[in-house]
Amino acid sequence: MNCSRAKEIIFLYTDNELGEELLVAFQEHVVVCPQCARRISYTRRLLTVVRQGCTRTRAPESLRKKILTSLRQPGVEWEG
Ligand SMILES: [Zn+2]
Repeated sequence: MNCSRAKEIIFLYTDNELGEELLVAFQEHVVVCPQCARRISYTRRLLTVVRQGCTRTRAPESLRKKILTSLRQPGVEWEG
């Protein structure tokens, strides 16, 4: 596991959608990588905001997916 791979799957991690093998690899990485550990809390906050916003405006599931997909775009830096 390296940082770019961790970044790719961080949304799956925060959604509890990682398979066991990836989950273990991911957790092993964040234990030794403060940058990615920090990114997890940032991603959790971001998802909370997105979800609250969607609930308030009653956005359809398709829009929520679209937002999450755009957030998952590679090359996006998650510095918070
Ligand atoms: Zn990392």
